[in-house]
Amino acid sequence: MSTIEGNIERIRAEMGRAALEAGRSPDEITLLAASKGRSPREIRAACAAGVRSFGENFAQEALPKMEALADLDLQWHFIGAIQSNKTRAIAAHFQWVHTVDRLRIAQRLARQCPAGRRLNVCLQINLDAEATKAGIAPDEALELGCNVAALAPLRLRGLMAIPAPRTSYGEQCAVFARLKELFDRLGERIETPDFDTLSMGMSDDFSAAIHEGATIVRIGTAIFGPRASVPRGT
Ligand SMILES: *Cc1c(COP(=O)(O)O)cnc(C)c1O
Repeated sequence: MSTIEGNIERIRAEMGRAALEAGRSPDEITLLAASKGRSPREIRAACAAGVRSFGENFAQEALPKMEALADLDLQWHFIGAIQSNKTRAIAAHFQWVHTVDRLRIAQRLARQCPAGRRLNVCLQINLDAEATKAGIAPDEALELGCNVAALAPLRLRGLMAIPAPRTSYGEQCAVFARLKELFDRLGERIETPDFDTLSMGMSDDFSAAIHEGATIVRIGTAIFGPRASVPRGT
């Protein structure tokens, strides 16, 4: 068994444990492999271990990898900062975008989405009001959500966040609980049929995220090992 397969097996076991502890079914939770900086060969190894969802941060890096892996049935998620000159490539090649935080970007994605296709999107929430980080403030999410939900080619699925690292499990749970609370509140108020996704939790905090209701965890390092040079998150 490769290191990557072994890592995925351990992560799945921990995901199952965290789900059961929270009274949830492990089937509700998707393991998304954050594959920025990873080669097609590493992605194949993760696929062989049963992972089908992959997250990329840069369109120009992702497109050649998608082409090299076109023989596999993979689902591609864009999880990086969205530059407006990349929206066309993102809308054409990804099935999901987790990092929508401006209406203008959502409008471009909707306009450039190929005919007959729909793009699943999550709003990125800046939970810690970090000036340097992407994401919309929690109190602006309702308005953005209503506007995004009205853009037909987009399918508004839920919320995503990258909270600042916490030092304890309890603090990790507390910050994820805030995203879950916002998610529940918006779900009641936004007119959209499938608001069902909470994208939260990474290598160091996915157990807490699952405890608080994550439906997608985005994991890089714990699957593939330490990253060489690509920055973490956005
Ligand atoms: C890289 C990345 C991850 C994975 O981070 P790890 O700590 O390596 O698990 C998750 N989400 C986003 C948005 C990322 O950019």
